[in-house]
Amino acid sequence: MSKTTHILRPRENPKLMSIIIPFYNEEEVIPLLQTELNKFVQTLPCPCELIFVNDGSRDRTLMLLDAWAANDSRIRLLGFARNFGHQTAVTAGLDVACGDAVVIMDADLQDPPDVIHAMLAKYREGYDVAYGQREMRVGETVFKRFTAWAFYRLMRRLVHPDLPVDAGDFRLISSECLHALRSMRETHRFLRGMVAWVGFAQTPVFYKREARAAGETKYPLRKMLKFAWTAALSFSPLPLRVSLILGVIIAFVGFLAGAYALSVGLIHFFMPEFRMPYSSGWASIMTLTCLVGGAVLISVGVLGEYVARIYDEIKARPLYLVSYRRNLDQQ
Ligand code: UDP
Ligand code: MG
Repeated sequence: MSKTTHILRPRENPKLMSIIIPFYNEEEVIPLLQTELNKFVQTLPCPCELIFVNDGSRDRTLMLLDAWAANDSRIRLLGFARNFGHQTAVTAGLDVACGDAVVIMDADLQDPPDVIHAMLAKYREGYDVAYGQREMRVGETVFKRFTAWAFYRLMRRLVHPDLPVDAGDFRLISSECLHALRSMRETHRFLRGMVAWVGFAQTPVFYKREARAAGETKYPLRKMLKFAWTAALSFSPLPLRVSLILGVIIAFVGFLAGAYALSVGLIHFFMPEFRMPYSSGWASIMTLTCLVGGAVLISVGVLGEYVARIYDEIKARPLYLVSYRRNLDQQ
């Protein structure tokens, strides 16, 4: 399928660039990140602000970040009142970013900062989104690679056909596109899908995803499944339709079985000597009861998931609460 066409208007380098980094229990990686980032920022052709969001870490992350920010006025630090999740932490960064170009990256150096140069080149060409697309993944298990592979392909069907495969949240976004993103305040957030949804001129930048520099992944399987579930449900009514289709199929099978039973009964009544195969007894009843019962419960469950999400959205609570700020007094 071809993509929407856009006319690219070449731009200058941004007057200010924002780099947003969410942190959750990243004390081990901070010293490495500090060295790498300081080196990298010097190579940038424009001034830059670093927006650090501490997502309610339970270790010394906030203290380390605060000490770092105390010596560097380019750093703007937000501390969440508790852990709100990666997508929300990035959202908070997007909300306060002042740059003409905004980059989202992880704290663990899996996204090499040098790739930002290639993203900036795309920005100058006139693209509004330059997303990092992984060519290969180093140091991740076959299981993680396979689940990620399957996830992106399934999501393209469910979420948005323009959702790029093998692309995480590592990307550069122009302020025009950011403006559109900021207006979307849904509680259950799947940012990649939201960026695909807003459209604008988007282009991949290929890169090699490194292994985590230090510490452990903050996305265990449970969180990954929850994330995939949010992605599917918050963008697509397809799971609801699947239960409808299943219901129709089962009802149809039931109708056929009923018609068959009735005709066997009638034939037996009028022609007692004529025998037709007629399965009776509890095996068939048990099978049908479980099948129908299971299908009904699954459908109600899926429906319940949507209702729960409607409930969450309707409460319209703030997406996050900030309990600590540095260099952010104006907001
Ligand atoms: N993260 C966060 N809140 C969370 C979980 C993760 O802010 O609840 C941050 C984490 O500190 C890191 C980024 O999100 O900067 C990506 O997490 P991680 O590297 O653990 O995920 P993975 O790369 O293994 O998918
Ligand atoms: Mg990582």
